[in-house]
Amino acid sequence: MTHKTYDIIIAGGGIMGCATAYCLISADPTLKIAVVERDPTYAQASTTLSMANVRTQFSLKENVEISRYTIGILKSFEEDMVVNGESPRIYFRQEGNLFLVAAEAEEAARRALHMQTQLGCRVEWWSNQQIKEHYPLYEPQPFVGGTFGPDDGYFDAYAVLMAYRTKSRSLGVNFFKDEVVSIKTSKKGVTGVQLADQGSLAAALVINCAGAWAADLAKTAGIDIPVIPVKRQVFVLDTAFKYEKPLPLTILPSGLYFRSETGGLILLGKSMEDDPIGFSFSWDEQRFINEFWPELAQFVPKFDTLKVVRGWAGLYAVNTLDGNAILGQWPQLNGYYMANGFSGHGLQQGPAVGRYLSELILEKPLSMDLSIFTPQRILDNRSLSESELV
Ligand SMILES: Cc1cc2nc3c(=O)[nH]c(=O)nc-3n(C[C@H](O)[C@H](O)[C@H](O)COP(=O)(O)OP(=O)(O)OC[C@H]3O[C@@H](n4cnc5c(N)ncnc54)[C@H](O)[C@@H]3O)c2cc1C
Repeated sequence: MTHKTYDIIIAGGGIMGCATAYCLISADPTLKIAVVERDPTYAQASTTLSMANVRTQFSLKENVEISRYTIGILKSFEEDMVVNGESPRIYFRQEGNLFLVAAEAEEAARRALHMQTQLGCRVEWWSNQQIKEHYPLYEPQPFVGGTFGPDDGYFDAYAVLMAYRTKSRSLGVNFFKDEVVSIKTSKKGVTGVQLADQGSLAAALVINCAGAWAADLAKTAGIDIPVIPVKRQVFVLDTAFKYEKPLPLTILPSGLYFRSETGGLILLGKSMEDDPIGFSFSWDEQRFINEFWPELAQFVPKFDTLKVVRGWAGLYAVNTLDGNAILGQWPQLNGYYMANGFSGHGLQQGPAVGRYLSELILEKPLSMDLSIFTPQRILDNRSLSESELV
């Protein structure tokens, strides 16, 4: 049943919106929650355009803990998210992540590795010889070795999103197909949202989960956040030479990354300084041919002959302050919460963000303290340091 007044309204129904709705309704089934998503096909949502990778290899402890938690969630996700006897299939493949390390970054990489293992993650240092033994196709000699996380991997992002959505709905969350055109406020704080087609909804608590569109929506409540939409491209390659066993997500020090994909294909991407800012979704084969292919062929000489089968572009919601999430209540507006600025590693953070926001909002003990990502740091211009962003 739909209402006009809710306890909580969530603007944006991507991974953040749906995981948060699920965690809230699971914690308190009496809550009246509305999720407003303008495009339930998710054609432009970052969630469905991502590489769907999860890795414990970060340099900020909280980012490591978040991903470690997600890996646990994914392992039992298919059983946990059954609705009417139907279980989602998310194809979680732990084929590993391999970060190649350049000499100048060795100390930082070993420091991060130490922290990751201290937290209980399985991550190993591999010499170049070990890299060659595991992946003979690779030519790691320009580097000093790499870090390999065997538990890292990827999954079907669309299936995970749909599972959160379906489960939330089955537990009583209302989903609206509409656009939040503005966030309504009074002197006391948030009062609701104005929709494009279906009038307005009232609530004293609104969560901005609008992904790359978050800053525009925040502005309607008079809030400025340093989050911009940046186009990132992914290329699907059919190499003449076929690898024998799956290749992990392999990340070169330049940021070029690739992994194997079903059907003997390769997925490849790289964040570039000149990637356009704005809401553009066109992809450009020349970008791969001119800029990425030579680097790929140097590292994997057997990939010197290939076809670009297709590609796509999606948006990173880049937090220009520090490339990390902005989570929690905006200190200057009562009832206005945000889960924004994930800067290319948000999909794997969805489950932990949902749990954290629900505990924060419902004033429950925190299972994981993510207050380091507080919006207050935006006002203080205080940045977090995370060196392992791609
Ligand atoms: C090419 C690429 C590769 C990536 N690879 C990875 C990866 O390997 N691992 C990883 O963890 N992350 C990755 N990411 C990042 C990840 O996809 C995002 O951080 C994450 O999906 C963000 O989720 P979200 O829910 O905030 O945003 P979205 O998924 O974009 O969802 C936001 C939703 O809000 C809706 N919306 C916006 N404005 C409004 C409004 N005013 N009213 C109603 N609805 C609105 C949109 O339609 C959209 O569906 C990648 C991203 C890209 C583009």
